[in-house]
Amino acid sequence: MTAFLTPRTDPRHAVLFDPVKIGPVTAPNRFYQVPHCTGVADRAPTDVAAMREMKALGGWGVVCTENIEISADAEISPYPALRFGADSDIPRQARMADLVHRHGALAGAELAHMGLYAANRTSRAVSVGPSSRLLIEAVEPVQARAMDLSDIRALRRDHRAAALRAKAAGFDIVYVYASHNLSVASHFLARRFNDRGDIYGGCLENRARLLRELLEDTKDAVGDTCAVALRFAVEEFLGADGLTHDGEGRDVVEMLADLPDLWDVNLSDWSNDSQTSRFASEGYQEEFIRFVKQVTGKPVVGVGRFTSPDTMASQIRRGVLDLIGAARPSIADPFLPLKVADGRSEDIRECIGCNICLSCENSFVPIRCTQNPTMMEEGRNLWHPELMPARRTEDAVLIIGGGPAGLEAALSLGRRGHVVTLADAREVLGGRVTLEASLPGLSAWGRVRDYRLGQLAKLTSVSLYLASRMTAEDVLGFGASRVVIATGAQWRNVPMGRDGGRVAVTGPVLTPDDVMGGARPKGRVVVHDSEGGYIGSLMAEALALGGAEVVFATPALTHAAFLALTLEQVRVLRRLTALGVRLVAGHDLAGWDGAEVRLASVLGGGDMNMGADHLVLVADRVPDDALATALLAEPEALALAGITSVDRIGDCLAPGLIAHAVYAGHRLARGF
Ligand code: ADP
Ligand code: SF4
Repeated sequence: MTAFLTPRTDPRHAVLFDPVKIGPVTAPNRFYQVPHCTGVADRAPTDVAAMREMKALGGWGVVCTENIEISADAEISPYPALRFGADSDIPRQARMADLVHRHGALAGAELAHMGLYAANRTSRAVSVGPSSRLLIEAVEPVQARAMDLSDIRALRRDHRAAALRAKAAGFDIVYVYASHNLSVASHFLARRFNDRGDIYGGCLENRARLLRELLEDTKDAVGDTCAVALRFAVEEFLGADGLTHDGEGRDVVEMLADLPDLWDVNLSDWSNDSQTSRFASEGYQEEFIRFVKQVTGKPVVGVGRFTSPDTMASQIRRGVLDLIGAARPSIADPFLPLKVADGRSEDIRECIGCNICLSCENSFVPIRCTQNPTMMEEGRNLWHPELMPARRTEDAVLIIGGGPAGLEAALSLGRRGHVVTLADAREVLGGRVTLEASLPGLSAWGRVRDYRLGQLAKLTSVSLYLASRMTAEDVLGFGASRVVIATGAQWRNVPMGRDGGRVAVTGPVLTPDDVMGGARPKGRVVVHDSEGGYIGSLMAEALALGGAEVVFATPALTHAAFLALTLEQVRVLRRLTALGVRLVAGHDLAGWDGAEVRLASVLGGGDMNMGADHLVLVADRVPDDALATALLAEPEALALAGITSVDRIGDCLAPGLIAHAVYAGHRLARGF
């Protein structure tokens, strides 16, 4: 059993450690990991269970699953999910509940029938929903059929059976899911999907009938020992076409007020619920969900990328929430609650709101986290998010480069007990993180640097040197036995995108490094993005905000394709449109002479020439590997200097996401 309150707990945060009664069960504190996906689910149940256990060990009072399919007739392949469609599924899910219980936490199971979202690509069952509609989010032109009354009875039977399996597996909280536009119960609620003429269609009471029945069935089946939670989106941002927090969303809460044992409330769809720091700050859901506690006597949990215990305690004191829900903050720091209990809030590894974790879920791979390199490695590699094994050698380490790769390597090697020296050419540490955090909306990304610098300040064995550009000669003469090169990369200033094409460019070219270094060209600026990540859109935004007349062009058929995975693409393009940025897709760069940019349509037909004062090229990055190359070319000099290894990590090896650089630094340190 985890101990929570300690003599060191800040009295202002003590309220976060009150137990909360939820129906027949009691959460040991107010830290609640709401259901979140893992990218693998039942494809790697052992890894998933180990990750959830780590959260319970880190003090989360409630730890929930991701969505659990209740029947093979509503499956969401290729998206991974857990399953409770058969009794044989019980042992697999029981493992997670057992591991969570070991540390005194409650385990929650999110049962879901995904209705119009379940394309049944594997089972080949015909999809179902309240009415015949195109499947949601599916690219294939396939429709669901309208459920008849016997289908509804079958759905209720399946849900009830799954609830009984959740109870048998040892779960304490069983969910009914009506959120994110992803569940059949929410599809029945929505006028836009439900044009039924029977008792399940028409007025709100009829559209809410299935949801009420699922809640009643679940309470009847398992409510004696399990709490029944309702995960419900109070606001869909669709006006009269959807639920609103001051319209039908509120009406549903009033209708069902005390039926569930717990309200888990949020915003729909997923892109509204999981907003990035580029668009929303901590606590962003409050204005929409705060009414819920005034309507129900049951406890309420909500989310809002909470990382500050002051904000969390304020939510409780002001009567907004009873339980502090978190998905991403619990991914970035599984030990957040224990750090608060221990009076060490400054040690929290705060989520930066980048949604790289979501991009993994959307690519069906295990979730990765920019801040927490151990995410989903807890079981597979036995990586603990807070503990490093003691060093096995006496090696003194010299790290060159203080970006995310170098800082993470320094921190993790320092924690292992190595004597570490880190040198960076610049006056400030953080490398690309410091540069990128200066772009519009990305200031929270600076937490990648700040967390590591804060932790490094506590290690006496690590020394940091600024304004120290290192040459091969400096390295050879330094006296370290192991050298780590983390010198990063620079944006390329000649056109070379994913297709590798080169074109005649005779005019001056600006790169993202110039803009992040403070350049704000005025007049007519073309930003040409053949990378397709997040930087191109940030260039367009920063320059438009700086007063330039911006054209944002890409050879791809859609701008910033990667941002579809982080759920930001639509928001970003809306923001650019509002700033007056002209969007040109499907056009590759064909030439630039300092006065005119030539764009060639990738679809054939007419090319586009436009007068421009500046061209900002977002192509790829060139690894800054000169130092590593020089050192590795001199094996004898290395041996003479007593250097036994030279490792390259992060962007100087292969430019990638900040998450890749952090992981590279961490993995290197583990392997020492
Ligand atoms: P990564 O993402 O791999 O950590 P970054 O580009 O963020 O890479 O950071 C690389 C850092 O390395 C930058 O802060 C840069 O100033 C520093 N650097 C590059 N070359 C040298 C060098 N020769 N000596 C010291 N620091 C260097
Ligand atoms: Fe937060 Fe980014 Fe980590 Fe996701 S990947 S938990 S958004 S820091």
